[in-house]
Amino acid sequence: MSHPFLADAEALTEELIAIRRDLHMHPELGFEEVRTAGIVADRLNSLGYEVVAGVGKTGVVGLLQGGQPGERTVLLRFDMDALPIDEANDVPYRSQTRGVMHACGHDAHVAIGLGVANVLAKHRDQLPGTIKLMFQPAEEGLGGALAMIADGVLDRIGPPVDRALGLHVSSQHPLGTAAMRIGPMMAAGARFTITVHGKGGHGARPNETVDAVVVAAQIVNMLQTIISRNLDPEDIGVVSVGSIHAGDAGNVIAETATMHGTIRSFTEETKELLRRRVPEVAQMTAVALGATADVEINEGINATVNAEAPTLLMADAARALFGAENVSMDYRTTGGEDFSAVLAQVPGNFFFLGARNDEAGINAPHHNPRFDIDERCLPQGVAILCDGAVRSLKGEGKPWILSG
Ligand SMILES: [Zn+2]
Ligand SMILES: [Zn+2]
Repeated sequence: MSHPFLADAEALTEELIAIRRDLHMHPELGFEEVRTAGIVADRLNSLGYEVVAGVGKTGVVGLLQGGQPGERTVLLRFDMDALPIDEANDVPYRSQTRGVMHACGHDAHVAIGLGVANVLAKHRDQLPGTIKLMFQPAEEGLGGALAMIADGVLDRIGPPVDRALGLHVSSQHPLGTAAMRIGPMMAAGARFTITVHGKGGHGARPNETVDAVVVAAQIVNMLQTIISRNLDPEDIGVVSVGSIHAGDAGNVIAETATMHGTIRSFTEETKELLRRRVPEVAQMTAVALGATADVEINEGINATVNAEAPTLLMADAARALFGAENVSMDYRTTGGEDFSAVLAQVPGNFFFLGARNDEAGINAPHHNPRFDIDERCLPQGVAILCDGAVRSLKGEGKPWILSG
């Protein structure tokens, strides 16, 4: 399969693997990516990029002005943070920091980003427009994308962005494949906390109490009816209660109970439904049992919505490398991704790059202590993103929202 950037990318394979393994051995949690950001900034500097560090606390932006006339700016985004997980893999590049691990593959994203930086710098003379690289902190639920947007990554640092591209390595998809979807591809998500207020008392005299444990149990069951009875059966939604805490002793009726959970949706209507029904159901169930319930739902993240034109273009770039039969266009997951904050403001594409290898035993899920990737995906990611970025600068994959 011939691909315009595959040779360039493959020439970097050893370097990409070395970068990824170094980062894997030295993982850093969200907003603490000081070492990682330093490596990124140094590398971008040496490649001739204009570098702005400290964007969204530990984020780094790299700007490359192409040598050909062109008014478009394409942003490519790579997240850098690790997770609070103790690595269980016995590999030479095992995490050296106990309790912290690159268990989502963001180490691979940084390596791919630096590979893209390298290849595009090499072809700078032929680029018509501006490349903006966004190395982002704190993707794992801490709001790193929003922090960089607040600091101006889209509009005030370098020219305003016309199109945004990103990828995620995936242990759900075999090496040599890509998966994406036009429209909402990853779910909107928010966290909720329900606090039940009852009346504590002696376990032998329940009639004199309002048992917060019984109320919480009823609320958990009643919440299940939102998906089974309120949601359009053709739509997708999730309501999960992940933790319940109440009481201290077997012979004492608990006065309060606290529950934490998450809601997921793809459409605005379902998002509104879940945000309305979770408090209604919790509060009314509590009242029916003589208690009260406070419900808080955080802002959460948007659904990750791929625009049509850039997604068709990126599918084409992936097909050129993997063949049409290896590029899925109907993939969707209830997982969330904070690149959604960028795609809410700029049309673009996010896709999954296959990194699974069953024969080699590389198939643990993301966020698992045995997560790993087949590193042959690294140059593939570089090649696809470079192709998509350059074709985007040339105006392929319209319509465009031009800056200015
Ligand atoms: Zn993750
Ligand atoms: Zn991730």
